Amino acid sequence: MLTSLQSALSRIDQLSRISDSPLYLVRTFLSPANLAAASLISEWMRDLGMEVSHAADGTVRGILAGANPSAAPLLLGSHLDTVIDAGSYDGALGIIAALAALEEILAENRTLPYPIHLLAFSDEEGIRFQTTYLGSRSIIGPLDAETLAIKDAQGISISAAISGTGWHENATPIHYSLGECRGYIELHIEQGRVLEEAAEPACVVSGIAGQSRLCITLTGRADHAGTTPMALRHDALTGAAECILAAESLAQSKPPLVITVGKIQIHPGASNSIPQSATFTIDLRHPLDCSRDNALAELYLQFSKIATRRGLALEWIPVQENPATPCDPTLTNQLLHSLTAVTGSTALLPSGAGHDGVILSKICPIAMLFIRCRDGLSHHPDEYASPADIGCGIAILSHFLKSLEP
Ligand SMILES: [Zn+2]
Repeated sequence: MLTSLQSALSRIDQLSRISDSPLYLVRTFLSPANLAAASLISEWMRDLGMEVSHAADGTVRGILAGANPSAAPLLLGSHLDTVIDAGSYDGALGIIAALAALEEILAENRTLPYPIHLLAFSDEEGIRFQTTYLGSRSIIGPLDAETLAIKDAQGISISAAISGTGWHENATPIHYSLGECRGYIELHIEQGRVLEEAAEPACVVSGIAGQSRLCITLTGRADHAGTTPMALRHDALTGAAECILAAESLAQSKPPLVITVGKIQIHPGASNSIPQSATFTIDLRHPLDCSRDNALAELYLQFSKIATRRGLALEWIPVQENPATPCDPTLTNQLLHSLTAVTGSTALLPSGAGHDGVILSKICPIAMLFIRCRDGLSHHPDEYASPADIGCGIAILSHFLKSLEP
């Protein structure tokens, strides 16, 4: 008989072979591979004796009744969709590790005090419709008409995809309202290099960082590159370069603040013209909203000074604003206790990336566990978590579940 770790590793391998492309791993909302993965996960849940149902949007739920089936449940889970040319662990590991932890508990003939609902969300990455968290959003309330009307690249709307796949037959709405659940726990690969640097296999997550996205334009004057002396120039690109370096210094001086300029466009964009305008993006994240606000204010001040000194006009356009999602202190402490019991560590890290917990936090307390991944690599076919670290994650989850009190 396979150990729970061996069966988890085999399941990760099986899921990674279910793809919409023969060339790489990709599973998007309600695609054939997405539904095949959902079916396989349903089978694994049934094998554990769970009561399994699926929602019309492809999310799967397995229920383990526990000693008091009518008590408020604890939710576990992660997402079964992937990015394009994905790795095998992002999302899948959270579902499979939770299954393995429950398998260990059942193998010891233990009964948990209240129901556990294991959720495999059909969409978190948002690849098909360019909108994130569809799976978890639809379990906390029906998707609104505006969202349902969003179309994919083939012109198929979300509502048409839901009613057109056949997966809606025998579907059961999966819905939770505010206060109905004890909490939501998710295990996920870290998708960064902090655990690897710290030589820790796992950590508990303090919260999910808030994020601000901005579009900045500096406008100067397009002049001849040969005839305009340096002192007379209003070069938008060198102004942007100074702003970008100022943003980098600001973030370096205030960890865990992170600021990224991922895109820049200049006009007119010719080798013999001084750039008239430079437009660049800012992605600024911090686990505390007040620190994010302070960083934005500081950045605005510095950009204004740079623009004024260089005779450039500054346009500062906020594009997106997502508040931080703190993890629940009680659940987080319980998870920390299990982390320490298994690894001896007390590592607590913020998550710079968004997760389904952002949505679940609207209806219940949330907590998260991160597992080290090699070289911090994720959203890439070389994404890898070692069997030892996965085993560690399963042991922490299983210790946590065994410690639950009625
Ligand atoms: Zn993920």
